[in-house]
Amino acid sequence: MKKLISILVILLSLSFFLEAQKIDVYQRPLQTERSRDFDAKHYRIALTFDLDKKYFEGENQITLSPLRDDFRECRLDAEELVVTSVLDSKNNPLKFKQDEKQIIVDLSQTYAYGETVTFTVKYNATDPKAGLFFDEENPSNPRMVSTISWPDNAHHWIPCYDFPHDKVTNEMIITVKDKYKVLSNGRLVSVKEEKKTRTKTYHWSQELPHSTYLFMLAIGPYAVIEDSLGSLPVTYWVYEKDVEDAKWIFKKTPAMIDYYNKIFGYEYPWAQYAQVTSPRMGGGAENTTATLLGQGVIHDKRAEQDFSWQRVIAHEVAHQWWGDLITLRTWSETWMNESFGTYCDYLWTQHDNGEDEGAYALLGKKNQYLREAHTRYMRPIVFDRYNRPHDNFDSHTYPKGACVLHMLRFILGDKPFFRTLKHFLHKHEFQAVDTHDLMIAVKDVSGQNLDWFFEQYIFKPGHPVFDISYTWDRDSQKLLLKVIQTQDTSQGIPVYTMPVIIGITTAEKKISEKVWIKQKEQVFEFPVKTKPLLVRFDEENYLLKEWTFDKNLDELLYQLQNDDVIGRSWAASELAEFGDDSRAINGLIDRALNDGFWAVRRNSVEALGRLKKRKHIDLFKEKCKDPNSSVRVAAIEILGDYEEAELVSFFVKRFKEDDSYLAQAETLRAIGKCGDRSQLSFLKEAAQMKSPRNVIQRAADWAIEKIGDAAR
Ligand SMILES: [Zn+2]
Repeated sequence: MKKLISILVILLSLSFFLEAQKIDVYQRPLQTERSRDFDAKHYRIALTFDLDKKYFEGENQITLSPLRDDFRECRLDAEELVVTSVLDSKNNPLKFKQDEKQIIVDLSQTYAYGETVTFTVKYNATDPKAGLFFDEENPSNPRMVSTISWPDNAHHWIPCYDFPHDKVTNEMIITVKDKYKVLSNGRLVSVKEEKKTRTKTYHWSQELPHSTYLFMLAIGPYAVIEDSLGSLPVTYWVYEKDVEDAKWIFKKTPAMIDYYNKIFGYEYPWAQYAQVTSPRMGGGAENTTATLLGQGVIHDKRAEQDFSWQRVIAHEVAHQWWGDLITLRTWSETWMNESFGTYCDYLWTQHDNGEDEGAYALLGKKNQYLREAHTRYMRPIVFDRYNRPHDNFDSHTYPKGACVLHMLRFILGDKPFFRTLKHFLHKHEFQAVDTHDLMIAVKDVSGQNLDWFFEQYIFKPGHPVFDISYTWDRDSQKLLLKVIQTQDTSQGIPVYTMPVIIGITTAEKKISEKVWIKQKEQVFEFPVKTKPLLVRFDEENYLLKEWTFDKNLDELLYQLQNDDVIGRSWAASELAEFGDDSRAINGLIDRALNDGFWAVRRNSVEALGRLKKRKHIDLFKEKCKDPNSSVRVAAIEILGDYEEAELVSFFVKRFKEDDSYLAQAETLRAIGKCGDRSQLSFLKEAAQMKSPRNVIQRAADWAIEKIGDAAR
């Protein structure tokens, strides 16, 4: 019998239901890099805001340099903006036309390549639908303004050339009522107060060039928490009510910058680093020097175990190099920003929480990609077919690309890999880049031509699927390991060339050997004197892969006890297939109770849960008190599935005693499965409790409906 890893069983059954959602991404329109006839140099933006009227007016003084010799007509992107006049550098009016998407300025004379052209566009706007948002005061946030210029929405609040390959410096001179504070990119030059009008004017200056999608503005009655890394100002802009939680939530920001400074070999490039909360964001937007974060980043201390934003914070910090300092040239190259950001949040997790948490975070990224590959589509990572840039911000760009970078690191080796990153950042600082620039950087630094690697993982879709088996022969003292690549290669998915580490453990010794997979089917021979206790394919877990590896009970039990966290978790899931076998069950019970890593305990609990034996109820009850909330959630869910009325009082007690919102929510669902109408008042009361993402309320509502359905 061939078995897939447990996660895949889930994925495959999920794919059956989601078949209808599969997308043919190759039907999307072909997109190419935009052509332009000037290079924008500087935008000096001065705006006055009226938050009551959701209105702003002002100007953008544009300095640019033509990229042609007969430059007279200048086209700028501008939507939802009312342009009132355009003035040349001597304040003479210039003719202009405006359509829905652009303003076309007649510069009244021609300019040649390399000359400097300056003119000013005066404009106003009322409550735009994109780019810049006015928000009214409500229980979650104060009255405020925030922007999301990503991916091409800066021109909804600034007339400009709005494509990432044009890098430009800018000033933002913003006048607001004096009760508000203003954050923007770069360095705060001055704050001038006008007593008569009760206004303040904030002058921010971004003195190093960046792309327009990174332009930002946040206006509100913010509390500003000041922190630093050496001479670098680090600030956290939050709502008054959030100050105390923000202090511990953002506390590690300077350490993250410090860590990245060291591993990238490039000192943080900008004048400051601010983080600001907004109701307009789900995750984060890595505006240069000032990241906008969803206000969900703020939560109480007990939510941290289930709803931590530390990885998002680390991801956005890393973008200050990967995205802001060097920037994708077009939206087909999203991985140049997001895969690096995602790989860096893994690196931070590993640095801050240790090897095991790091390994598990990376496994999570692999599975996230595989889910998309199975249920939606497979596409090359660099992909020029999309309706809008958002289409490419998917699980190919974020997690798959991060896993590909991890494999690149494996092939190059740690030192050459990080040397390459350093070289790449220095060589292309303040530039727009594409994958070929990275391929050249790899050659520059390591001397290695790895074009084949990029070809199979970046420019082609898919991933390898391995079928692995081995035989050991006592007489010849040889182990033969057979590796077959079983992926369907009909749709452009290649047969992969990759190194892989094979680990073989016997009672006498342990060997680890790197071999190269190059063919669809290969057999590797190893001299092994005694019967192997464990044969490990892809030791250290470098590869992005699916695989089947049919192992006997003895080997799985050994692996469950002795392998790394990824191997132990995998063995736990595999052991579920051995059903009633007492050795398998005892092995799983032992790991459920005693393993040092939560995911192994959780997988062991889940493997036992699949057997649904009444004799394990007490074990699951005990695991409802595991120190890790994710193990508790798994145990509570399994117990709920017994649908035993006598467990209800246990769940009520757990609800009262557990400090995890997710575990509490699971106890409510368990009550829904096991309970009767007498629980309704308890559930209704629970539904009133506040929790992140309303998990408690949603679980209570689910349970109430479940009991209602059962009573019908
Ligand atoms: Zn990102």
